[in-house]
Amino acid sequence: MNTYEAPLRDMKFALFDVLQSQALYDRLGIASAQRDTMDAVLDEAARFTRDVLAPLAQSGDEVGCERDPATGAVRTPPGFREAYRQFAEGGWTGLTAPESFGGQDLPESLGACVKEMLDASNLSWSNYPLLSHGATEALKHHGEPWQQEVFLKPIISGAWTGTMCLTEPHCGSDLGLLRTRAEPQADDTYKVSGTKIFITGGEHDFTDNIVHLVLARLPDAPAGVKGISLFLVPKLRTARDGTLGGRNAVACGSIEHKMGIHGSVTCVMNFDGAEGYLIGQPNKGLNAMFTMMNTARLAVGLQGLALSDRAYQNALRYARDRLQGRSLSGTKAPDKPADPLIVHPDIRRMLLTCKALAEGGRLLVLHAVQQVDILERSQDAGERAAADELLGFLTPIVKGMLTEWANECTYHALQCFGGHGYVREHGMEQLARDARITTLYEGTTQIQALDLLGRKIVQLQGAGMRRFLGLIQSFCEQHQADAALHEFVLPLAEVTRQWGELTIEIGRKAAANGDEIGAASVDYLFYSGYVALAYWWARSVATVDAGGHPEDLRAAKRATARFYFARILPRIHGHAAAMRSGAAVLQSLDAALFDS
Ligand SMILES: Cc1cc2nc3c(=O)[nH]c(=O)nc-3n(C[C@H](O)[C@H](O)[C@H](O)COP(=O)(O)OP(=O)(O)OC[C@H]3O[C@@H](n4cnc5c(N)ncnc54)[C@H](O)[C@@H]3O)c2cc1C
Repeated sequence: MNTYEAPLRDMKFALFDVLQSQALYDRLGIASAQRDTMDAVLDEAARFTRDVLAPLAQSGDEVGCERDPATGAVRTPPGFREAYRQFAEGGWTGLTAPESFGGQDLPESLGACVKEMLDASNLSWSNYPLLSHGATEALKHHGEPWQQEVFLKPIISGAWTGTMCLTEPHCGSDLGLLRTRAEPQADDTYKVSGTKIFITGGEHDFTDNIVHLVLARLPDAPAGVKGISLFLVPKLRTARDGTLGGRNAVACGSIEHKMGIHGSVTCVMNFDGAEGYLIGQPNKGLNAMFTMMNTARLAVGLQGLALSDRAYQNALRYARDRLQGRSLSGTKAPDKPADPLIVHPDIRRMLLTCKALAEGGRLLVLHAVQQVDILERSQDAGERAAADELLGFLTPIVKGMLTEWANECTYHALQCFGGHGYVREHGMEQLARDARITTLYEGTTQIQALDLLGRKIVQLQGAGMRRFLGLIQSFCEQHQADAALHEFVLPLAEVTRQWGELTIEIGRKAAANGDEIGAASVDYLFYSGYVALAYWWARSVATVDAGGHPEDLRAAKRATARFYFARILPRIHGHAAAMRSGAAVLQSLDAALFDS
């Protein structure tokens, strides 16, 4: 079960058929995005992930990373470093980076498909390039030209990697608490001091230099989030002309021993007056870091999707092979001692749940990443502003829901294996353990839910949501006369109307009592995710019905959409009831009485 075959057919269906990406890329003038080139990229990524990364996933989990106590050096699991060398030499580190910095300038939405394959084949390994991609985005948007020349180019070429250093022992979700200090020096450098914890890829053996992007406070900075600045601190001291010096005063003090992703090193990083450079404006570091965090949030959403799909693939293979019991409606495999698991309705419920959430989730995230392509490349300011609003609205849904669904799907897929899922051989328990981190890092589910309801809906008055509702409404209007789609379009229109009403109702309550936002937010996130997926399932059926697709795909999409509308979408009613019960149900028990 430790083999991986990328779901190329569904990726191409989502990207090119449902989302019509080729037309978008042509309109945006992305010269490199020719269909034959993109097909070749996807096919080669499928080969690399199947042949190089997937075989390292289980051994990487078993061996993990090791820190040398004498030198602080970290050794990644066997094969990881060599795979990274092949990856960098193949130009993959710069797949979507601008040509002017040595990249291949391909669209981010194509890159997202490649990323899904990296994550699905070997989540631990894929974390290293993930952080480099985030650092690339931050430097591309906020770095000075010399910083881009000296630091961005080697990250894009894969010669160096990047990290994101936010978390401190006392400061996780609430970044306003952070204490790391940066003292300005006469030569325009800064001396950065403090302890960062949980730093992914903080030390490793892939590359000589590692570029740490560090949040810290200047001496006169105001308290809270308004006093945070962003600094670049290289592992090897690096002059403005790119000349490398000796070791900077930054070191890995220890590494964490974790529930999952054992091959992805998680470091305590000690900065002891390390030489660094300011990125962007003083006290505006959070804005710059948000560029990186938003990229990383979509990327972690993709991790969730990847694990759901991988778990589904494994469970499907097993359910077809494993013989247990007879079908309740009559024997299906009379030549065999028992029927395969896949005949049993409840096995089908679990498999279909994974299939519906993974394939629908793929559209949800690729649509969000298309907004990044528009935002970065459109010449039309109005179109960019619209994409920005839509992306802001979709990002917490993508991060929050795809990672929650990854936990649900890995749970169901493991269950399909029975006790064989609980032992190591089939790799299912590893997927379940690895999935658990995705709802925690890059902003927990609770933080995504607060961002969605508190900020994107209440504070920003739902501008992004209105754009998304507009897409659904125009889809429903376009297909209202299509009888074959009524079973999807009519309930979609109805739940969309209810979503709008519920949003207004919660917004009103929140104006009177802030706790109403916190009490409703996670249910609201789930509710929004399920309605969004209903839209993507209805659009999938409309796409296959429009013709030109093989019969098996048409039948599979319609049957899965039916399952989604019948068995998953109704979950929204439970979430709506929970939201309507209000904050008092949660807040009335005095904190001192929880153990009474
Ligand atoms: C393996 C791993 C890798 C990581 N990689 C990195 C990295 O590369 N760089 C980096 O900077 N950090 C990294 N992190 C840190 C990660 O981003 C944090 O763990 C995460 O942001 C949560 O912070 P915390 O653990 O301090 O939890 P806390 O913030 O203490 O939260 C505890 C619980 O309270 C909830 N909570 C907190 N505030 C609220 C609120 N206002 N309303 C409702 N609920 C709330 C949270 O959802 C959570 O359930 C990593 C962590 C791990 C485990």
